[in-house]
Amino acid sequence: MPREVNRRDFLTTMAAGTAALNLGGAQPLAFAAEKLRSQPVIGIQIGSISFLDEGVEKVMDNLQERAAVNTLFIATFTYGNGIAGRQLKDHPLPDHGVQNYDDHFHGGNYATPHAQHYKNTVIKDTKAPDHGNLDILEMVIPAAKKRGVRVYTWSEDVWSATVPNVDKIQEKDLYGRNARTVCFNNPDHHNFLMGLMEDYTRSYDIDGIMWGSERYGAFGNMIESVHNRNGNDPSRVTCFCSFCQEKAKKRGINVDRAFEGFKALEAWVRSCRGGNRPPDGYYVTLWRLMFRYPELLAWETMWNDSVHETYAAIYNLVKSIKPEVQVGWHVWHANSFSPLFRAQTDYAELSKYSDYLKATVYHNLGGTRMETYMTSNHNTMYGDMPIEEALQFEYRIMNYRERGYEELPYTGLSPDYVYRETVRSVASVQGTKTEIWPGIDIDISNMDPKFSRCTPPVTKEVTKAAFRGGGKGLVISRKYSEMRLANLSAVGEALREEKIV
Ligand SMILES: [Zn+2]
Repeated sequence: MPREVNRRDFLTTMAAGTAALNLGGAQPLAFAAEKLRSQPVIGIQIGSISFLDEGVEKVMDNLQERAAVNTLFIATFTYGNGIAGRQLKDHPLPDHGVQNYDDHFHGGNYATPHAQHYKNTVIKDTKAPDHGNLDILEMVIPAAKKRGVRVYTWSEDVWSATVPNVDKIQEKDLYGRNARTVCFNNPDHHNFLMGLMEDYTRSYDIDGIMWGSERYGAFGNMIESVHNRNGNDPSRVTCFCSFCQEKAKKRGINVDRAFEGFKALEAWVRSCRGGNRPPDGYYVTLWRLMFRYPELLAWETMWNDSVHETYAAIYNLVKSIKPEVQVGWHVWHANSFSPLFRAQTDYAELSKYSDYLKATVYHNLGGTRMETYMTSNHNTMYGDMPIEEALQFEYRIMNYRERGYEELPYTGLSPDYVYRETVRSVASVQGTKTEIWPGIDIDISNMDPKFSRCTPPVTKEVTKAAFRGGGKGLVISRKYSEMRLANLSAVGEALREEKIV
């Protein structure tokens, strides 16, 4: 028989229940937030459009439940739709979000540019017009904090010709023409970047900053290409602006000889791509040019040093304002293909001004990119070998064991590539404070829809490989708005199986 409940018993029970409920509400939340902060960074790159399309709480539920995400890398400054905006046109839409492409993507600063930080630059007006006055950091940070989820700003070196005054910071090519890219030795660009980073650091309660530049200098751009099978136009390489020329002189580089060397290299590239095998071979004659014009390499080193000096300047600035803010870099995928870029990207050196490095290890897209890299290089540096042998040579020097040239776009690179690249990266920063957070590929739009796609089983293997290789965190890339939910869940499953979260 059920006990008869008198009014007093009833009230007592209710009070106890309410107290228990209160405790139950507050403690697990605080506990959960605390637990999240003690976990390795499980980050995801995400653009503002996803929060608007799907709702902040819904997106966070999805990310936390499926992929155990505890850190958001929000695309805050870019004019590129690789990391902001919805799925790229003509690529399959994912199984969440608005089922449409954003045809009017513009880009810019998705937070609020506060004018006092842009006094020392001609670049002032960068507010992204895509969502009116919306400030994505103001919108997301409070919701994320409540859950113990960290927020990093994620900015990249991708500009648009529509930015007022951008012509004043653009690079100059070999023939003095403006490029679409901007110069790291241009004070107005440098001061803009410093202002942007100071603005983010001072104006918002952020946990970290990530910035990235997916470019290399004139030498690399002339003879190689990661994204363009036919190679880049060798006359449009950069930078030869007056600031770069001044800097070169201070470094003791003979500027006239540098111009002469690059024009000689341009002629060599055009001749090689035109189907003319140099009588002494491609490899030998490239070296002959480098011996004759050491200025080629000196100029390239200066370009890369300028990027790394920018890293150091951002790092020192942010740390001087809020030492607890984590500062690190998205390292361009070229690091996995180009031995020249890898030589210039010395992680031990970078560790002096990096709390973490997002080592890009996009396995699926990597297949297409490796194929493209070999195709573009096969007319220049690797011209002496049949392409399959050149690929084997490439695998040896980069320390990979992957598929043949014809298969690559249809298979991608393997989880073993992710493992090897992580091991190498971790070894390079051994003994330093810098952590390696592999950036893994979840459904990055492949160039052609018939090429390989990410699958949950391989995604699990890739996630595990990143930690087995010694990674201390993870950055799920490239943007949430192109990822399929099953692959996000596969990340979470792998992390839970390995007891990483
Ligand atoms: Zn320049």
